[in-house]
Amino acid sequence: MQIPVHPIDLTTMFFANGMTSLATALLFLGFWRVTNYLTRSDSLLYWGAAYGLLSIGFMMMASNIVGLVVPRGQLIANLAIDAGIALSLVATNRLFGRPVRENWPIAVAVVIAVGEVAYALSRPVPDYSVMLIVGVAVRGPLTVATGLALWRHADASHRPPARLAAIFHFAWAATMAMRAVPVLIETQDMHAFEISSVVALVVRLLLSWVIAICLLWMIARQLDERLIRYANCDTLTGLSNRRVMWEAGTQRIAAPDRNGGDVVLILLDIDHFKQVNDRWGHPAGDAVLATVAKRIGETVRPGDLVGRVGGEEFMILLGTASPVVVADLAERVRSAIEATPIVVAEGHEIRCTISLGCSRTGRGGASWETLIAQADAALYAAKHGGRNRVVDHAALAEAA
Ligand code: GH3
Ligand code: MG
Ligand code: MG
Repeated sequence: MQIPVHPIDLTTMFFANGMTSLATALLFLGFWRVTNYLTRSDSLLYWGAAYGLLSIGFMMMASNIVGLVVPRGQLIANLAIDAGIALSLVATNRLFGRPVRENWPIAVAVVIAVGEVAYALSRPVPDYSVMLIVGVAVRGPLTVATGLALWRHADASHRPPARLAAIFHFAWAATMAMRAVPVLIETQDMHAFEISSVVALVVRLLLSWVIAICLLWMIARQLDERLIRYANCDTLTGLSNRRVMWEAGTQRIAAPDRNGGDVVLILLDIDHFKQVNDRWGHPAGDAVLATVAKRIGETVRPGDLVGRVGGEEFMILLGTASPVVVADLAERVRSAIEATPIVVAEGHEIRCTISLGCSRTGRGGASWETLIAQADAALYAAKHGGRNRVVDHAALAEAA
């Protein structure tokens, strides 16, 4: 029995591309309508418009072939596809927040496209070979530029989908360029034309499909990152929140580092903070909290974890450090805060002080709860000792 062979014909491929581009456009536009929580969500509008134009172009190509001839239909279809590709570059650069000037390849493409239109309008039946070469010259560089814009996306968490989408852009540009080969070698073999066109359209079909998945993948990553940030950070100061500090603390105690070093905790509390609120108002109090948090963050060492664990209470969780290093760090934080002027109202600056209590796990391997209680006791002693000072629980225990 002979299996019948149905080669994929160009009309079917144009039609399939038109429908897939339409579905992709509707998907992007639908997402654009419902997502107002994304950064630069308007890039989805550009993507939607780009795929809408591609859909119009491909559908016109298909209808041209089956005989629904619009005057100059082929030229209009080509220009719609060109515009869709140009808009994809704009959408990509917008998605990654790049400056508008990065869309410069469009200016070059417009110049070539103007030449294309002038040539097509100048004769009743434009030469197919010329139109093909000019079309490749417009679309190829724009597609490569879009691929490059996706490829060099710096953010590691978005890199896999961005690069996958880039690869499909490069592949489409390559197959488009291959369509020019039969023209350049001046073959009359129409079969070669058809094969290379079908291959390009198959890759184009895959690209529409891949770009939709990759963009949604990137959007999902962006939402993940936002949720993780909300779950872990204190919104006023940007520091880790109480839950993160507690988790990190219990983890470090449960799994001490290879050197078996102590886990060290410093609790800090702003002195007489209530007076700041009472005198200058709550927003001024918030400004003080943000400034204090920033100064603590600037003063600690890389690897030290800083969090806001209460209204005006902060925590520094250190990896292993000698008592001298801890005392030095606590003192540096104290003096940094004391030395920082904070604007609380126009023309009014105040200076705040903090009290600090330190504790460490030590030989007995204290639990997290014990460590907290000891740092709290040291902080309490610092407050009672006159505030604006550092007290180490070890010294407190020795004195007792
Ligand atoms: P002490 O030196 O003993 O620590 O005195 P204090 O005034 O700093 O401590 P107290 O516990 O009496 O007051 C803390 C104040 O912190 C009370 C509360 O209104 C304020 N506070 C807590 N969270 C926030 C916040 O997010 N923003 C502002 N502006 N104030 C806050
Ligand atoms: Mg307090
Ligand atoms: Mg206080």
